Amino acid sequence: MKVSAHTLRCTECGAGIAGEDAASDFRCTLCGGLYEVNYPWSLTPSGTGSKLPNASALRWLWQERRTSTLPIDQSGVWRFRDLLPIVSDFDRAVTLREGNTPLYELPRCAKAAGVDWLLAKHQGMNPTGSFKDTGMTAALSVAADRGFEWVACASTGNTSAAMAAYAARAGLRSIVFIPEGKIAWGKLSQSMDYGALTIQLKTDFDGCVNILTDLVKRFPIYLLNSVNPYRLEGQKTPAFEILEQMDWQVPEHIVVPGGNLANSAALGKGFSEMLHLGLIQSVPKISVIQAEGANPLYRWFTDTNRIMRPVTADTRATAIRIGNPASWRKSAAVIEKMGGWCEQVSEAEIALAKAQIGSEGVGCEPASAVTFAGLKKLVAAGRVLREERTVLILTGHTLKDSDYTINYHRGELLTAEESAGISAADRVLHEELCKPPIVLEANPDVVLRTLESHMKTVQHA
Ligand SMILES: *Cc1c(COP(=O)(O)O)cnc(C)c1O
Ligand SMILES: [Zn+2]
Repeated sequence: MKVSAHTLRCTECGAGIAGEDAASDFRCTLCGGLYEVNYPWSLTPSGTGSKLPNASALRWLWQERRTSTLPIDQSGVWRFRDLLPIVSDFDRAVTLREGNTPLYELPRCAKAAGVDWLLAKHQGMNPTGSFKDTGMTAALSVAADRGFEWVACASTGNTSAAMAAYAARAGLRSIVFIPEGKIAWGKLSQSMDYGALTIQLKTDFDGCVNILTDLVKRFPIYLLNSVNPYRLEGQKTPAFEILEQMDWQVPEHIVVPGGNLANSAALGKGFSEMLHLGLIQSVPKISVIQAEGANPLYRWFTDTNRIMRPVTADTRATAIRIGNPASWRKSAAVIEKMGGWCEQVSEAEIALAKAQIGSEGVGCEPASAVTFAGLKKLVAAGRVLREERTVLILTGHTLKDSDYTINYHRGELLTAEESAGISAADRVLHEELCKPPIVLEANPDVVLRTLESHMKTVQHA
């Protein structure tokens, strides 16, 4: 069954091409811009009735598929395949049953931020522990469909973990380029576990991208970085899931971490498509949060001349340690079109936010915690109102970077300078949340005395 029915459109000059005709680096040959995937219905004007897929039929179908035993129905990405016909045959989609991730309430974080309620869409609950799985199932299926044998990506860790897993499932060979010594071990171990050829380059993420871009032009390797527009087709589906999980009520705000800036763009596309098809009547504002040490988009928004200046990135939130984000224009367009802001947060603010999310029994990796740290700032600035509903996108699982968590609780994470900048109010929170492991003699009396002293402090609190 021939289902592939899409074209690629350059988001800068508007040139349209067939999917198979994209250059190996996925850059527009006319202007160097990035593509987005278009379908016949996405070019049909809204409100043209029978020319568009039927909204209520789709809603019913997506719900029905949740009870099916077919692998593609059990996938939280391919369950929505009517809106991503990117492969020639859906039966050949490469899936690990990604998506269908939980939407959690965070009542204590809500209180701490000064809002009535707060939700977290936990994309860390995907098969390899990050949202990258939703994009990889889509783009890797295209690679397999087009007959590639080799796939590759440059990665701060999670993309490589996802790519290696999906490539292994499909029987393809994968090559991972990661910056030497600047990624979390958990992520590096995954790409080795899934059998990728793992190459650590003596450069940063941006340097890895440059090498790989050169390589794909000389060798038939399929590029799986987020310049590949098919990844965004998978990464738009959490927007559909959030709406389903909220009974098709539209939240006022979505808050996303910003690294290479494809995810915010993908979610924006997802919500816009829902609006276009008439499944919702309004869209949420999308805000992007960057780490202070890797904040090119934040700088662009605050620059009166609006010039994008890449930075040398540095943050412990390694997943967003990116100084020259490929998809910044797409992301900026989403923020400007849908409403929303770009904020930056400090290392100490990230550490506190991560501990707060952890203490609700949810947990996430440092890059995901920027969402909560950023939300606090948006609320304080009056941009998010108390009664508005916000969904934080938690992008990665807490076990991705356990070193970070352990260092935090041992009081060894932040530098003296970073600690000195913490406000008195935040200092109290840090002290409450910090739970270093206690080493004791294996003696019941000693253990009991220690427990008693801890129970007292809890009662007094
Ligand atoms: C990749 C990643 C990000 C950044 O997403 P972009 O699309 O690059 O902006 C944020 N958090 C985690 C955990 C990631 O793996
Ligand atoms: Zn172009």
